Amino acid sequence: MSKGSPVGSHRVVSPAGALPQAADRLDPDPEIADDEVRISVERLNLDAASYRQLHTSHGGDGDAVRAEVRAIIAQRGKMHNPVTGSGGMLIGTVDAVGPRSPLGLKPGQKVATLVSLTLTPLRIDDGLMRWDGNSEQVPTSGHAILFARSIAAVLPDDLPEHLALAVLDVCGAPALVRRVVARRPHATTTVAVLGAAGKSGSLSLAAARDAHAAKVVAVVRDEIEDAQLRGSGLADDIVIADATDPLRLAEKVNDALDGRGADVTVVCVDVPGCEHGAILATATGGTVVFFSMATSFPAAALGAEGLAADVEMLIGNGYVPGHAEYALHLLRANPHLKDLFIARVGKEDED
Ligand code: NAP
Repeated sequence: MSKGSPVGSHRVVSPAGALPQAADRLDPDPEIADDEVRISVERLNLDAASYRQLHTSHGGDGDAVRAEVRAIIAQRGKMHNPVTGSGGMLIGTVDAVGPRSPLGLKPGQKVATLVSLTLTPLRIDDGLMRWDGNSEQVPTSGHAILFARSIAAVLPDDLPEHLALAVLDVCGAPALVRRVVARRPHATTTVAVLGAAGKSGSLSLAAARDAHAAKVVAVVRDEIEDAQLRGSGLADDIVIADATDPLRLAEKVNDALDGRGADVTVVCVDVPGCEHGAILATATGGTVVFFSMATSFPAAALGAEGLAADVEMLIGNGYVPGHAEYALHLLRANPHLKDLFIARVGKEDED
């Protein structure tokens, strides 16, 4: 058995010297190194921005989406969308554990990987035959490799797998929101969440509440999402606005917050072009959390500079210690939140 690199650099085919996330191509050889874990894959969860891009670029043609995902995995040895740069995560069963693996996993355990598919060596062996190309979740079979510095969570036995997968995919968002809100004064901190009826958005609302924000404003796309959130108790106010329309968005958030911007604005929308609206909707000295993978660094940095906006801007690192347990806790504690997730991902595994 070969000796692995904890960060997986031995799996990089090209370019030489890159880490797996930045690599064009990884080697998904099923033979594991001494500190690796092999997972027998059961389901992929494509990142929302990636799935939307694929779906839009193929005009909703599921067969074409499936063919492209199959081709990306075959060419890159990982599910790394070259346009959005994002991936997703997966669930499966632990198949083999190297003697030096520090992850504490045992063969037979059902797990979700909590590191991105953009850096996870992956080979599929069923041609994605059981997937119609029309959903973020992809039933499949094959294998994936975890490195010594990867993270995985054993799946809870009280939630359907597809539901746990959807929660764990975005579990970095609520943990980061809780941290950012909690470091501000409880009595006055206001929070606006863009894309609030979505998965990371609704979890972020729940986290803002949990961190005792003074007022939580949900920004949603249309009346349908407004109706989904109304009565859930997750937000104090719901605003319908296009997050890509900066002036209207800022105006509506300001109206909901007595003429002030939000102290914390969280971007959970899965389309590009939300940077300027988020910055304009944030109070001076406030924080914008860009959780969305469709965020552009130049648009955010240059937009804030051009608006002379004194706001802190955080990239939503998908990892915060304890993030998986916290997101699952929020879901279990809040039946409305669970209903929102079920409305998005379905009640039963379709598989
Ligand atoms: P999601 O469940 O699809 O939610 C996105 C929400 O944004 C949906 O409610 C969507 O409405 C709404 N939306 C779309 N366009 C909008 C617009 N112009 N104005 C207002 N709302 C709009 O997505 P998610 O899974 O929570 O993911 C959200 C983002 O987080 C994605 O960009 C994803 O890539 C990213 N992400 C980041 C990490 C990380 O580690 N930082 C991890 C996972 C995911 P409709 O459903 O009606 O379109």
